[in-house]
Amino acid sequence: MRRLAFSTPPGGPDSCIFCQIVSKKSPSSVVYEDDRYIGFLDIYPFSRGHTLVCPKEHGETIWDMEEADIAQLFQVASKVSKAVVAAVGADGFRFVQNNGEAANQVVAHVHVHVIPVKMEDRGRFVERRRFTSEEMEATARAIRKELA
Ligand code: AMP
Ligand code: ZN
Repeated sequence: MRRLAFSTPPGGPDSCIFCQIVSKKSPSSVVYEDDRYIGFLDIYPFSRGHTLVCPKEHGETIWDMEEADIAQLFQVASKVSKAVVAAVGADGFRFVQNNGEAANQVVAHVHVHVIPVKMEDRGRFVERRRFTSEEMEATARAIRKELA
């Protein structure tokens, strides 16, 4: 399989931040987990509830995944999106999925962004923002409750 362009060499479980999150060696606000996929809050979100959904198995881009697994990744992302939208009272959401550094992929482990949006934000330029760890945990708890 052809590798999409990255200026860094291929990483793996030891050097990849999302693999570290999967193995719980790095902390994250997990909202969803099954044996093959995980969803956790983006640390520098575009909006409250911005979540990343990943396969647990390391692969850089969608091209590294079996097609059935890509379908399942988006099934999980769809399920998570309903909980995210309900938990933060959003009116819509975006899926964003970057492949390759040219597409602004910063973390080279496949992920789908689930970004909730409100009607009042329509047409506005939305910047990333920081939340306190208490706010992050409260948001994650609300999403987990919707998924329960
Ligand atoms: P991308 O540009 O599609 O590769 O997006 C990577 C995302 O991962 C960015 O939105 C970052 O804010 C997010 N991110 C990076 N490190 C972490 C982390 N340790 N925990 C949660 N999100 C992270
Ligand atoms: Zn990884």
